[in-house]
Amino acid sequence: MDIYMTGVYIWYYNICKRQVWLMAHSILPDENDDNIVLGRFLHEYYYRKDQKEIKFGNAVFDILYQDKDEIVIGETKKSSRFKEASRYQLLFYIKLLKEAGISAKGVLFYPEERKKEEVVLTAEEEEKLEKMIADIETIIEKESPPPAATCRYCPKCAYREYCFA
Ligand code: SF4
Repeated sequence: MDIYMTGVYIWYYNICKRQVWLMAHSILPDENDDNIVLGRFLHEYYYRKDQKEIKFGNAVFDILYQDKDEIVIGETKKSSRFKEASRYQLLFYIKLLKEAGISAKGVLFYPEERKKEEVVLTAEEEEKLEKMIADIETIIEKESPPPAATCRYCPKCAYREYCFA
């Protein structure tokens, strides 16, 4: 199976590894579910309303500016609820830029919480990201998904019927 690594996989990996497999294998969640994970759940989180997306290869972010000598890419989020997932998603985009010879740092903006967080790709973070990418590929290549394990995201996940019926 050809795997086109995206920031969305990185994001889901940090939420639920089983979801990575389900998405990669085009298993759609219950479309009648009010909490449909690919719709409302993400929609509430991503703050895209009138923003234009900036695309760079398989990276998509919504803010790009220059700060002195450095390029800054950013994402605006409605809440910091999925902070770690967002951080690694943005780190993945910074890594893609780095591989293209562009040095960048990132910022996550949470306007409703009046917070922002700087995201820097350190050697340690890059190593973690590489392990994550390898693990995502291993998960996707498996014949079956990782077993369902209850986590705090399950109550709002449209896959819950599929996982726990
Ligand atoms: S219901 Fe829970 S275990 Fe199943 S995909 Fe959703 S978050 Fe993962």
